[in-house]
Amino acid sequence: MPVPLLDLKIQYQALKTEIDAALFRVAESQACILGPEVDALERELATYLDVKHAIGVSSGTDALLMAMMALNIGPGDEVIVPTFSFFATAGCVARLNATPVFVDVDNITYNIDVELVRKAITPRTKAIVPVHLFGQAADMDALMALSAEFNIPIIEDAAQAIGTQTSDGRRVGSIGHIGCFSFYPTKNLGAFGDGGLVTTNDDAMAVRLKQIRNHGMEPRYYHKIMGGNFRLDAMQGAVLRVKLPHLPSWHAARRNNAALYTKRFMEAGVSSGPGATTFGPHDLVLLPKVIHEGTSADNHIFNQFTIRSAHRNALRTHLAELGIGSEIYYPVPFHRQECFASLNCNDEDYPISNCLAATVLALPIYPELPESHIHEVVNAIVAFEKSTLEHTSECPDCVECGTTLA
Ligand SMILES: *Cc1c(COP(=O)(O)O)cnc(C)c1O
Repeated sequence: MPVPLLDLKIQYQALKTEIDAALFRVAESQACILGPEVDALERELATYLDVKHAIGVSSGTDALLMAMMALNIGPGDEVIVPTFSFFATAGCVARLNATPVFVDVDNITYNIDVELVRKAITPRTKAIVPVHLFGQAADMDALMALSAEFNIPIIEDAAQAIGTQTSDGRRVGSIGHIGCFSFYPTKNLGAFGDGGLVTTNDDAMAVRLKQIRNHGMEPRYYHKIMGGNFRLDAMQGAVLRVKLPHLPSWHAARRNNAALYTKRFMEAGVSSGPGATTFGPHDLVLLPKVIHEGTSADNHIFNQFTIRSAHRNALRTHLAELGIGSEIYYPVPFHRQECFASLNCNDEDYPISNCLAATVLALPIYPELPESHIHEVVNAIVAFEKSTLEHTSECPDCVECGTTLA
């Protein structure tokens, strides 16, 4: 039986009556852009995220771009970003003709390494953009302390982390100066198209972000500041309002799936447990670790369940032959991207991200994933890794990037 990476039809079928009614309501009203549906969604999300202002926008990418526009980021400015993330995190900086400054990530969480952030700060640094990668929070306490010490705003890229909590229970996107979320269909809260959200606790910033969302216009046809069309459609607002109440149970289902994967990999003797960073005979696959496990319910929402294999490319091919879906988030870190070649980054400054790019593989984790699929995926991986080990005489160093991780 094929095991897709993601099956969005199951979720739609479960909510079809409510979603169809919500879409019909918008069709009847012909209030197509922003309006009452988006207003209501914004109130509901502000409550859920425990943030003063939640502003619906056109995508997660636009949320990041707007946040940077609101902070007046432009030529000559530097913005610190992790080198291991989705392109938008760095692309938005470059689109504003500012300079993205890449730093390496932590070997266990894959989130930005705060000590390296400190070293990357210069008088030109205008923002720091931590990404809560795969649904686990970056070290916000340390980042907020740096932010206060150097007076540099934090833009949280929470695109993969709606609802994610820190160890003391705060939801990401409510901690930094501006939070950015995506409703791309593969995210934990997915729309029927593109959509996003910016959040802030700063009243003046909220006014500014709302102006930027609509061409910097206030009042009508008077343009105070530069903005664009970053508005959210009412159809997306209506769909998202149906889905939002289900988000906590979907997060829990993803966590259950992650726990089952972990249990099965450990029972099969191919992992000594989450958090191992070195490949060896007892760690043929490396498993994601929930740091601060148990401190708050949502401290990992598993937008992705990302394992590491020293033979990732061959493993992925093997899985594909068995009809098992997987994906590589992300195969090329920013410092190696062609479009950033002019930044002349030193590849050796990014050992963790380089190894991650060569070894990570995301497995199916969506909430409705049948348990039998998890067994199928684990069995296929265990069989592959064990047979590969038999054919190599020593511990499996990473054959993709040639290194053993310390
Ligand atoms: C998805 C994503 C974005 C962009 O969101 P879109 O809605 O697709 O524009 C930005 N950053 C990260 C980390 C993402 O995963």
